[in-house]
Amino acid sequence: MEFCRSSGFKNFVPVSGDGVSGENIKQTRKHTFTEGIHLLRRMKSQDDSTLFGGCAFNPFKYTPCDHFTQYFKLIKKINQGANFLVTQFGWDMLKLQELRWYLSSRGLYQPSIARLLLLTPEWVEQISAGKCPGVHISPDFQGILKKEVNYSYKQFEAAQWRRLQIQAAGCKLLGYSGVQIAGLKNAEQVSIACNMIVEALSEFKTFESWKNEYYEHLARAEMAPYPHRFYMFDKLFSEAHVDEFPSMKEGKIPQCSGSEKLHYKICEFLFSHASCQDADEHLITKKIFAGCRKCSFCRLPLTHYICPELCPKGLSNGPCGGSRADGSCEFGEMECIHSRRMRLASWLNEIDSLEEHYIKSAEKYSKAKK
Ligand code: SF4
Repeated sequence: MEFCRSSGFKNFVPVSGDGVSGENIKQTRKHTFTEGIHLLRRMKSQDDSTLFGGCAFNPFKYTPCDHFTQYFKLIKKINQGANFLVTQFGWDMLKLQELRWYLSSRGLYQPSIARLLLLTPEWVEQISAGKCPGVHISPDFQGILKKEVNYSYKQFEAAQWRRLQIQAAGCKLLGYSGVQIAGLKNAEQVSIACNMIVEALSEFKTFESWKNEYYEHLARAEMAPYPHRFYMFDKLFSEAHVDEFPSMKEGKIPQCSGSEKLHYKICEFLFSHASCQDADEHLITKKIFAGCRKCSFCRLPLTHYICPELCPKGLSNGPCGGSRADGSCEFGEMECIHSRRMRLASWLNEIDSLEEHYIKSAEKYSKAKK
C-alpha cells in the first residue's frame, strides 16, 4: 500500500491472486496469499483518503453454493470499505445483469466496472483448456470460438472487436460505470478500442435493440457451462432495469452428509471456545478432527469448524474467484471449502453469518513464533 501511495496510484484493488500454474495443493500451501479484505479493512481503519479502495468480484458462477459464497464475500468487502468493484472477465451478459440487479436490490450503489477481454487465438486455447482460473466458457460458446479461430486472422479479429463493442455497450445499458479492457497490446489497439466503443454506444439506443444484436452475434448460444446453470433471478434480460426485483432464487444447496453433521457436532463440543484459548490448546485433538495447521489464533468456531488453512490459499472470509465451473476448488481434487461451509450453514440455518462476520487473519504458527 505504501508503495502504491508513494508511486502516485489513486485506486487500489487488492486481490488474493491465482495459484502458480502447474502447482498442486501441497505446493500452493507453501505460498502466502493475502485476502484483499484485510487490506480494505486496514485502509478503512486508518481512514486513508489517499487511496480509493475497490474489490474484485467474479459474477460468473453457476452452482448455488459457488454463486452465493461469492456474493456473501462481496458484501463483506463492501462492509469493510470497498468503494467500487471490478468484475472478472466473462462473456455471459446475464451474469453481469444479475450482479447489477443484486446490488440495486440491496440498495448498494458502488460503481461497478466490468472487465472485458479482447480474445486472441492463444487466449481461446488457454481458456478452453481450463488454464484461466475462474474463467468459464460454455460448450456452445467454445464451439463458436473454435469456428472463429479457423477463420482467417483478419476475420477472427473482426469478430472479437465486434464482441467487445457489443459487450461494452451492454455494460453501459446495464448500469456499469465503466469497462476495463484486458488483452490490448499497444497504444494503437487502445485507440481502436476507444473509437469502436464510442461507435457502439451510439449504435444501441435501446436495451431491446442491444439484446437482439447480442443474441444474434452469439447465435443464441447457451452461455452457462452446462450442466451448471444457476441464475439468481428469473426474468433476467426482460428489461435493463426493473423497479420491482423478481424474488431471489435460493437454488438447490446440496445437503450435508451424516458424517459431516456428526463431525460438526463433535467439533462444536470440543472446540467451541478455541478462538478465545491459546492456539496450542487441544492441539492434537484439533489436528485429528480439523486438520489443524497451528495458526497463531484458532478460527475454527468462526468457520463452522472447517479450518481456513485447508483452503490452499488459506482464505477465511470467503472464496477466491478461481473455483471451477462445478464449484470445485481451483486446484481440483476437492470441493471449495467455502461451498462446504455454505452447506453446513444452510443445514444450521445460519446462512446470514457468511456475509456478516469478518474473520481476521491468522499467521501460521511457525511464522508467528519466530
Ligand atoms: S478452496 Fe475455494 S477459496 Fe480456496 S483456493 Fe480453492 S476455490 Fe479458492
